[in-house]
Amino acid sequence: MTTQPTASHFINGAYVEDTSGTEIPVIFPATGEVIATVYSATPAIIDQALEAAKAAQKAWAKMTGTERGRILRRAADMIRDRNHELSVLETYDTGKPLQETLVADATSGADALEYFGGLAATLTGEHIPMGEDWVYTVREALGVCVGIGAWNYPTQIACWKGAPALACGNAMIFKPSETTPLCALKVAEILHEAGLPAGLYNVVQGLGDVGASLVNDPRVDKVSLTGSVPTGKKVYAAAASGMKHVTMELGGKSPLIIFDDADIENAVGGAINGNFYSSGQVCSNGTRVFVHKNIKEAFLKRLSERLEGAVLGNPLDEAVNFGPMVSERQMGIVLEYIAKGKAEGARLVAGGERVDMEGFFVAPTVFADVTDEMTIAQEEIFGPVMAVLDFDDDDDVIARANATEFGLSAGVFTRDLTRAHRVIGALEAGSCFINSYNDAPVEAPFGGVKASGVGRENSKEAIQHYSQVKSVYVRMGDVEAAF
Ligand code: NAD
Repeated sequence: MTTQPTASHFINGAYVEDTSGTEIPVIFPATGEVIATVYSATPAIIDQALEAAKAAQKAWAKMTGTERGRILRRAADMIRDRNHELSVLETYDTGKPLQETLVADATSGADALEYFGGLAATLTGEHIPMGEDWVYTVREALGVCVGIGAWNYPTQIACWKGAPALACGNAMIFKPSETTPLCALKVAEILHEAGLPAGLYNVVQGLGDVGASLVNDPRVDKVSLTGSVPTGKKVYAAAASGMKHVTMELGGKSPLIIFDDADIENAVGGAINGNFYSSGQVCSNGTRVFVHKNIKEAFLKRLSERLEGAVLGNPLDEAVNFGPMVSERQMGIVLEYIAKGKAEGARLVAGGERVDMEGFFVAPTVFADVTDEMTIAQEEIFGPVMAVLDFDDDDDVIARANATEFGLSAGVFTRDLTRAHRVIGALEAGSCFINSYNDAPVEAPFGGVKASGVGRENSKEAIQHYSQVKSVYVRMGDVEAAF
């Protein structure tokens, strides 16, 4: 397969190139090789995308939900048919193992298109009787939506934002992360092959400045960002000055609490999924693993044994289950955090270094005896670094788990059901797990509280964030007036 796309951007139903923008090399993280080049959108390209979206949106919103949904569901089927090819591209774009991308990326995007395709025809208003008068409500599209993506799940993010936006009758302009620009172009291409009218799903490449131009443009009605908290604060503020709708899916430093009555094998499995899947580059990861003192050594022993099952290597080899960091830069950030963990006195149990092979590999790393004030317990690392902290009191661990600006996810492992629900009820997080970690089906709302974000993606909740309600009062009798 060729990884060089036909052109950098996809606008008004066609690939568009403009090499006068800044050159963005696309690097395969497993080798450091340049596998494609795209160009950042110039003001003319951004304008072209906005005009195309604006021109197409009204007619799309006037189609029936059934018609819109049929196109989205057709695109979902096409994505599934092409899953292998799309998964290989996702692996080139991100470095994530093909073993993962085959089941978690294009398939998750297809789920979103299928789910919101199915919901499109069910979006109706209400009839509210007022004696002989009545009120009716109409659920309307917002207009032109901008989606801005992070680099860890490029296909999934492009679909999680595009599917509900289109189902509700909006147009979308999606700006992928500059680190992983390839996959969203394929999503756009497939949507149009499936029958989406031109202009409704556009992809423009670029760095933060292109994102900022889109967010600030008065033609844009809504912005949905997946990214870090600092970027989220900037984008939210810019959107607020134009009174635009927002969804913010931001970072986290989530707690995973393992009680001494937990099934250790499952708890270790949850901690592995919540720290090492996608080499730890997952926003909802449970990176603060609070383990009850009574089972701490047993937990660490079993975790160390199971870490031997990590297979590092070329992520295109399906036997490999642990890939590189997405970029040299991200590898550097993770290695700095590991150095801080060591310097601040955490006990290194596993990993702790760059792997001696080509590509940006950092070994799966576990620190034990981590305390709350250590940097690795406070800041989002976004890499394969697990911090294991001790506890022995339920109320104390809840308070410690909540003592963070973030609030994306939280998990508990226990066999005691009342404890599980009581503790989850007290944790400040948007997406929670009991005896599991990091499941993200399209049917379930996903998103954070506190600094981790506003709004929810997926599920029926997402509809609230891509539509608005018009209320119409209908009088049947005469109008009474003072004069
Ligand atoms: P980032 O914040 O650096 O960039 C995110 C996107 O925002 C990129 O496309 C970038 O070009 C764009 N951007 C940067 N500055 C901008 C500006 N001023 N205006 C508009 N757009 C701008 O994040 P990243 O490094 O790509 O991704 C990692 C972060 O994303 C982590 O913090 C992670 O937790 C978070 N994340 C969150 C979720 C979630 O659903 N909650 C999912 C994945 C990643």
